[in-house]
Amino acid sequence: MPELPEMEAWRRALNDPVSAFPIAKAGPAHIATLKTFEPPLAALEGRRLRGAERRGKRLLFPTDDGDLVLMVHLMTAGRLKTLRPEDKGPKTPAFTLEFADGSRLVLTEAGKKKRAGVWLLTREAVAAELAHLGPEALGLDASTLSGILSRESRRLHPLLRDQRAIAGIGRAWSNEILHTAKLSPYALSTDLSSEQVERLATAINDELTRGLAVRESGAGDDRTYRVHNRLSEPCHVCGTPLAQIDFEEHTIYYCPRCQTGGRVLKDRRLSRLLR
Ligand SMILES: [Zn+2]
Repeated sequence: MPELPEMEAWRRALNDPVSAFPIAKAGPAHIATLKTFEPPLAALEGRRLRGAERRGKRLLFPTDDGDLVLMVHLMTAGRLKTLRPEDKGPKTPAFTLEFADGSRLVLTEAGKKKRAGVWLLTREAVAAELAHLGPEALGLDASTLSGILSRESRRLHPLLRDQRAIAGIGRAWSNEILHTAKLSPYALSTDLSSEQVERLATAINDELTRGLAVRESGAGDDRTYRVHNRLSEPCHVCGTPLAQIDFEEHTIYYCPRCQTGGRVLKDRRLSRLLR
């Protein structure tokens, strides 16, 4: 699933094309993709978008007066594309926005499952929709992070992925961040020293900044991730083969030397069954 670096790279690329011309036609939308029906999509027609904004993993396209906001969540397989008037588009896009010059913004989603979503919301409704999100991960300072970590005792990997705690990080960037911070994915948030909290805050910003830069250069996953999805490959810092552990339906990747003091983590679901 695209996370903050990927979504921010999209946002920057889409900002100018979506605001260049007024919207001529909004839709059609796949029935499973469009999550709202009031206001209707037609309310966008004749209006101009202010640009592309982002909150956590969601893209927001407000009208220039801010009254309406088109919100897009790509989930795992959704992709956005801008097409010039002469470009051939996909046969059955999940959603299309056509501008006055004939250019289009199209949302496609590979596979049968339609999980990506488009919402057309009023200014008030979008605020309510986003109210549960924690502060943005990029730019998070150590003292704000310290407050989040001390709120309750939780393991670091699931805590970093929790959008209510911090917005924008998912499982891939949790792996990258915890590796750079040299912290165990299973470490408890309340056990961290202030030096470790500082290290984690620095790692969050460094990794997301690195991610954004490589994504903006057009890098695919191979050139982006150094830990995520790299089981048994040598750690880029110490050369130890990277390990993985399943936790809450997610696979966590980590370096047993850099992050867990040489210990290999046990699958907790399995150890619970065996107890
Ligand atoms: Zn290592």
